[in-house]
Amino acid sequence: MFYSDEFIAREIIMDHISSPRNIGKEHQNYLSSQLKNPSCGDTVTVYVLLDNNSVKDITYDIEGCSICKSSMSMASGLLKGSTLEKSKEVIAEFNKMVTGEEYNEDILEDAASLYGVVKFPPRIKCATLGYKAFEEAIKGNSI
Ligand code: ZN
Repeated sequence: MFYSDEFIAREIIMDHISSPRNIGKEHQNYLSSQLKNPSCGDTVTVYVLLDNNSVKDITYDIEGCSICKSSMSMASGLLKGSTLEKSKEVIAEFNKMVTGEEYNEDILEDAASLYGVVKFPPRIKCATLGYKAFEEAIKGNSI
């Protein structure tokens, strides 16, 4: 229940907004995908470098609201260095959390701090945009 403490969750989210992790421009040989969330005005472009079914690096360009930005920052930290299998697991747990299903907080680490999004359905798209862009970028490279 560490991450679902409201105060701690807020601190984690604020930290990712003020110090976003892994922001960066496109690099050679990276897979990429741009997705928009017109209902909020969020745009994210994710760049992924794969190496033997693992995410060797992930960077992104982002314009959007604080939920979108903090979620992308948390996602990048979780996905970087993970296997594609693990990344699928992470995304599945995140989707469960924001849609109100039982989820595994330990797998989500900092991303578990966004549990409050479940109470604001219009913001679910903001929180999941980065994960969707990642999935789109690696499409065709599944395990
Ligand atoms: Zn948004």
